[in-house]
Amino acid sequence: MSSSRPTVVEIERAIRTIPDFPSPGIQFKDITPLLGDARLFAGAIDRLTENFEPGSVDAVVGIDARGFIFAAAAAVQLQAGFIPVRKKGKLPYQTHEQDYALEYGHATVAIHVDALKPGSRVLLIDDLLATGGTASAAAALVKKLGAHILEAGFLIELKFLNGREKLSGFPVRSLVVY
Ligand code: AMP
Repeated sequence: MSSSRPTVVEIERAIRTIPDFPSPGIQFKDITPLLGDARLFAGAIDRLTENFEPGSVDAVVGIDARGFIFAAAAAVQLQAGFIPVRKKGKLPYQTHEQDYALEYGHATVAIHVDALKPGSRVLLIDDLLATGGTASAAAALVKKLGAHILEAGFLIELKFLNGREKLSGFPVRSLVVY
């Protein structure tokens, strides 16, 4: 195994598209082959964190559920805390909640009321940016706590869904764009 830093093309090759999962018409991006490869996983975390020095970020906020995997690893790399934004009903303490629209219906994400200190410097991470509803709801929760989003990072962006347009006030970066 080479220990050289993987290219974006290598990372992209380890993402598998599963048609019609979990429902007809969805092209599901399966990141498990990437996670199972030590070099590619570490390379993805390196790239997601490369704009920041350890100590320059107070917390990495990860979005339920696959976002946790990347956000937790990024937090350790940056010597930052890890803060979960979870689906409604999963966090045990008092929460703030934020609704967002889905193609059919709506969903709610939540954060603990004491998860972030006002003014803290936050990196927001999820596995995939699609329509941007989930990430913009998570960003709204971070802002509600008075924290400052330095950047939002995604392993994958489905560019044709224009999710970026829902995210403003901070840079957005993605490693693999479809
Ligand atoms: P959205 O709110 O539309 O930007 O959707 C983003 C969230 O839904 C992320 O947390 C993703 O994990 C998940 N997601 C949306 N579309 C896909 C897809 N095609 N493959 C895998 N995960 C997806």
